Amino acid sequence: MMISGLRVLFIAAEAAPLVKVGGLADVAGSLPRALQALPIEITGAKGIDVRVVLPFHGAIDRTNLNFRPVAAFTISHASGPIPGQVFETKVNGFTVYLVSGPPIMPEAPIYTSDAGVDGIKYTFFSLAALEFVRATNWSPHILHAHDWHTSPAVYALSLNRNHSSFFAHTATLLTVHNLPYLGVGAQSALQDYGLPPDYKGLLPEWARQMPLPLGLLSADHINAVSETYAQEMMTPEFGSGLDGFLRTRQDSISGILNGLDMQSWDPQTDKAIPVNFSTDTLVERKENKMRLQAELSMGPNPRIPLLAMITRMDHQKGVDLAVEGLRQIAHLPWRAVILGTGDPQLETMARDLAAEHPTKVHVITRFDGDLARRIYAGADMILVPSRYEPCGLTQMIGMRYGCVPVVRAVGGLKDTVGEYGDGEGTGFLFAEANPAVFADAVSRALDVYSDQRRWRGLQLRGMQQDFSWKQSAVKYFELYQQLATDRVGV
Ligand code: ADP
Repeated sequence: MMISGLRVLFIAAEAAPLVKVGGLADVAGSLPRALQALPIEITGAKGIDVRVVLPFHGAIDRTNLNFRPVAAFTISHASGPIPGQVFETKVNGFTVYLVSGPPIMPEAPIYTSDAGVDGIKYTFFSLAALEFVRATNWSPHILHAHDWHTSPAVYALSLNRNHSSFFAHTATLLTVHNLPYLGVGAQSALQDYGLPPDYKGLLPEWARQMPLPLGLLSADHINAVSETYAQEMMTPEFGSGLDGFLRTRQDSISGILNGLDMQSWDPQTDKAIPVNFSTDTLVERKENKMRLQAELSMGPNPRIPLLAMITRMDHQKGVDLAVEGLRQIAHLPWRAVILGTGDPQLETMARDLAAEHPTKVHVITRFDGDLARRIYAGADMILVPSRYEPCGLTQMIGMRYGCVPVVRAVGGLKDTVGEYGDGEGTGFLFAEANPAVFADAVSRALDVYSDQRRWRGLQLRGMQQDFSWKQSAVKYFELYQQLATDRVGV
């Protein structure tokens, strides 16, 4: 049975291009459009109606935004009812709903480092999103929530379903983009908004009133942003203490890889790179390498391999492993450029390496989107030694730009990069999060690099991969259908 005219309530803390901090914004900005663009052979004649709801953050630029109020209501709170309002707007032709109310303070950043503070805002937002569809009498087949910020909506809906017909046929899907962010500190916010702890005691005791664990407990289905990460979440190494609980839900856990915005990331049209190129004109790519070397004040040298890292400076990303690993193979012929900002200690580690090897290593500690593009277009290898990686975009962007990935075999890295072999594969993988093992993978890559014919094959295979959202949108659509159908049968 297929449900025609599927209605999906899609709620997230951020969505590009309106408001972006990290990868979640790319997903919430791209997936709803990709779903809406699916052909009617897949969706049926009535298509799919995806309503994206976001907090009306102060960071959202109001200057050229036309928005109109569409709903007003109150949300219960221990200190008395809190008013909420929803505005409708269009972003590049796509309708988006913005929730405002006192807990979504205009001057507050999108995220602070304190989930206690953010919990007040996001619990309000989660409950307001549910109230919004009720107030407009738009009953969704699917509630699709993301990460801890919108998990309270999943939990509240599951509690509500028993005594309200409005959500009786709404199935819930919770997507995990980053498991370790559980929303620790938001316990009292949940309580103040009337959300009880897991009184059945199915969660570990410490997690019974935390947003993400409660979402994981109550969602009809859980998915991670790659198949491997979905499996890894159920292991002690990656499970953030919830692996045991997640194993009890393994039949309701799956993975769907994030897509890449293939228009924005296209070496044929990218305006930030000196010379555009494609698989047909790959030889022209080396001009980008020469220009990049000049920009970084490295002497021009087309032959010496240029390694790159473009990353948040975070323990997750294995910056320390890379620095130590490169130090171990400093005697080999290579140069490296590291672009990243974040943890000051990791920034210092990278700068120390550059100080030890000033002619080999160049470090830039800022966020620079255009420079990142010039690096993808000019460097020979992109290094991604992550400790864990739910999906990861850098390796996909690298492949699309002919910059061969050297990655740790975890999460989405493992699902998108194939190990080089004679005439096959798109990059190099290593297993252990250990500098020597990383260095060994880089050495293997350097070996293959020395044979330009084999290297070109690697680059071309990477550039030909299809990382578009279309395939993932089909998978989400099929999952929505299955969940909605199962719910009707409940
Ligand atoms: P995460 O979302 O965990 O940071 P991803 O690999 O999914 O990791 O996405 C990282 C994105 O951020 C990529 O597009 C990468 O190019 C970009 N990026 C990371 N650090 C920088 C930086 N310092 N300057 C420019 N772009 C960066």
